[in-house]
Amino acid sequence: MSANVKKSEIRKAYLLNKYVIITPERAKRPRDIKEQTIIERTADCPFCPEKINKNNIVDRIKGEDNEWQVLAIKNIYPAVSPDNEKAYGTQEVIIESRHHSKELANLEQEQIERVLRMYAKRTEIISRNEKIDYILCFKNQGSKAGASIVHAHSQIFASNILPPDIHEEAGMAQSYKIKHKICPYCDIISKEMKTERKIYEDKYVAAFAPYASEYHYEAWIFTKRHLDNITLLSDQEFKAFTKVYKLILEKLQELNLSFNCFLHQAVSQRDQHFYMKIQPRDSVWAGVELGSGLVINSVPPEAAAEYYRS
Ligand SMILES: [Zn+2]
Ligand SMILES: [Zn+2]
Repeated sequence: MSANVKKSEIRKAYLLNKYVIITPERAKRPRDIKEQTIIERTADCPFCPEKINKNNIVDRIKGEDNEWQVLAIKNIYPAVSPDNEKAYGTQEVIIESRHHSKELANLEQEQIERVLRMYAKRTEIISRNEKIDYILCFKNQGSKAGASIVHAHSQIFASNILPPDIHEEAGMAQSYKIKHKICPYCDIISKEMKTERKIYEDKYVAAFAPYASEYHYEAWIFTKRHLDNITLLSDQEFKAFTKVYKLILEKLQELNLSFNCFLHQAVSQRDQHFYMKIQPRDSVWAGVELGSGLVINSVPPEAAAEYYRS
């Protein structure tokens, strides 16, 4: 437990008007909050190589043996689609491995990098459609995070509307920039690298537990370079990003936590700072959260960062 956070503390998010009550006295040790997220493994997995319908394949990244290693397929139960003007968009599933029962955390670094490169490749291709304003690459792992299939996969959701939260954050980032003459995230990164919330830093990337973390063990990964989206990462940035992403995934696996992971990028908005949010789904939001919008988090981000660094 961090020496600096002993009493409850109300904290405001960096930009948005959102508040969190950090309550360290209620913190449980990591070993006490393990949950069972094992989803039943079925023989009829639609993401295993032999079950893939070739007509649904959208894109592939191949390995040295010329077999696909990461596959993008059509989401066959989409909420938005290119032929629906009332709910326009496109949805894809990214199959992260040929192996049925390996979690992303257990894949080789090279393979995790291929998954990130597939996000970049699909973001680049989908963004050529001028009607698309927003592309979300995300992953749900574990039953509490909403995953329904065990085979390692993530998803891409693209729509013609920019979600209000993203729009609001972009507006606030813009105001901050005008006032302080610096991108808020470039500023936050350099400040957080000097705090107990720092998880990892190298020449290319920085990771930390955000000051007003809404979720236990929440972690954000940034490129140090001010980039709009994942398509602009250099080879070294992909490698550095993969390294810290894998480290965080392995630590979450030790806790056996379900999690959601998102890329923060809006292709239509120029001049923003790309990052990845990892939000474990351990805490259950109840009366206070649902009634007031205030979130209670019993794992201070300082303690979460200490766990990731250990
Ligand atoms: Zn499978
Ligand atoms: Zn920036």
